[in-house]
Amino acid sequence: MKIKTRFSPSPTGDLHLGGARTALYSWLFARYHNGTFVLRIEDTDLQRSNKNSSTAIMEDLRWLNLDWDEGPYYQTKRLNRYNEIINQMLKDNTAYKCYCSKERLDELRENQMAIGKKPQYDGYCRANNKEPIDHKKYVVRFKNPKEGSVVFDDKIHGRIEFKNQELDDLIIRRSDGSPTYNFCVVIDDSDMDITHVIRGVDHINNTPRQINIFKAIGAAIPIYAHVSMILDANGKKLSKREGALKIMQYRNEGYLPEALLNYLVRLGWSFGNREILNLNEMKELFTLEGISKSPSAMNITKLQWLNQHYIKNLPKKYITTHLQWQMQSENINTEHGPKLEDIITLLGNRCNTLKEMASACRYFYEKLKGYHIGAANKYFHNQANTSQQSLEAMRTELTSIIYWTPIEVQNAIRRASNKIVGGIRTIGMPVRVAITGSPESPALDITLYTIGQKRCILRINEALAYIKRHKSL
Ligand code: GLU
Repeated sequence: MKIKTRFSPSPTGDLHLGGARTALYSWLFARYHNGTFVLRIEDTDLQRSNKNSSTAIMEDLRWLNLDWDEGPYYQTKRLNRYNEIINQMLKDNTAYKCYCSKERLDELRENQMAIGKKPQYDGYCRANNKEPIDHKKYVVRFKNPKEGSVVFDDKIHGRIEFKNQELDDLIIRRSDGSPTYNFCVVIDDSDMDITHVIRGVDHINNTPRQINIFKAIGAAIPIYAHVSMILDANGKKLSKREGALKIMQYRNEGYLPEALLNYLVRLGWSFGNREILNLNEMKELFTLEGISKSPSAMNITKLQWLNQHYIKNLPKKYITTHLQWQMQSENINTEHGPKLEDIITLLGNRCNTLKEMASACRYFYEKLKGYHIGAANKYFHNQANTSQQSLEAMRTELTSIIYWTPIEVQNAIRRASNKIVGGIRTIGMPVRVAITGSPESPALDITLYTIGQKRCILRINEALAYIKRHKSL
C-alpha cells in the first residue's frame, strides 16, 4: 500500500505551533514510508477563510522545510465534485432534503434542553420527506445509521467507539448550496487516496461522522491518529488566538527552523532518550507508535536550548543567511564591519536566539548610541581618573600595532595592563565599556580585534572626551 498523508489547514489565521506539529508528523510519516504528502486548503468556510492566510501558511511550511508532493488543493475549487456526490446520495437515499425552518429547529432545541437532553435533530424530514408547497429552501442531511456503533482503532488512543444514537443527521449541504466541512473532508480523503489521517485530537468527535459517510459512499476508510493537545506552561490549552504561538513569530524571534522542528517532534513523540534529532534522523525514526497519548506542555527553555545547539552546530554559512535576515529586520547595515560568520563564532555561546545575537552585535557595525548607565557611573564618573589612565594606556598600545591580528591585540592588552596598577582587572572594564557601550561582551581581546583598530581608537577617544566633559561639570 502506498502511504499517503495530508495536511489540511483551514486558512482562517496563521500557522500555529499545534498545526505545524500536525503537519510535521504527517510529513514525517509519509517520508518514513516513501509515501506522498498532500497539502489541502480547507477554505469552504468563505466568511472565515482568506487568501493571505493560505499564502502565509504555505510560506511557513516552506520555511520549516516541509515540502508537499501534491497540492495545494483548494476545496473551493472542488464544489462541483462535492455536489455531484451529494446529488447521488440523494438518489441513493443515503441523504435527504430537510425543510425544517429555523424556528422549528430552535424550538426543538429549547425543548430538548429543557428536559436535559442533548440537542439533536429529531429526523422529522427523514420520516416525512415531502417538499412543502410554501418554501423551497432546504438543507441536505446525511442519513446517519440509527443502530449500532462506529468503532475505529486510533493509532494513538486505541479503540474508540461512538454509539450511532448519539450522532446527528449531519447537514452536508447548507441552504445556500455550499457543502459542509465534515462532508468535504471525506470526499477529499477518498478522492485523494489518503491512507492515514493524522490530525489534532479536537477532531476526534468528527471521525465517527466521517466514517459513516465513508461507508455510505462505499469508500475506503483511512487509518486515524489523533494527536493530543499542546498545553501552555500552566497546563492550560494553547489557543490559536495567542499571538506568541504563530510560527512566523518564532522566526521573528530568531529561532531556526531546525530547532523548531526538533522541538516540535519531541513535543509528544519520543525515541528513547534522544533529544537532538535532525530532519534526516526524524525521517528514519518516526513512527506513530512513538506518539504520546497525553497532552504535551510547552517549554520555552527547551526550545531555546535546542536553538542554541543548532546555532552552534549547523554550518556557519547556513546560520549566516538566517542571521542576515535578522540583521535586516533590526535595521543593522552589515556592510561595514566584521563578517557575520565571525559574529556567530563570537556570540554563538552567549545567545539563545538570532534576534538576541543581532541586537548583541550592533556595536560591531554602528556608532555607540550611549553607555550603559550603571557602567558609565561606575567607570567614567566614580573611577574617572583610573579609567582615564587605563584608556590612555590602551590607546597608546593599540595605536602602535602595525599588523592588526588577535595575537598583537592580546600583546597590546598585556603591555597596557603592565602600566596600570591592578593590571587587567583595572583596565578591562573601562575599555570594554568604552568600545562596546556595555559591561558585557565576549573576551576583551577578541572583541577589540573584531571591532577593528580604527574603530577601537575612535571609541576610546570618545570615552576619554566623555570623561573629561563630565569631570569639568
Ligand atoms: N481543516 C481542519 C483544521 O484546520 C483540519 C481537518 C482535518 O485534518 O481533517 O482544523
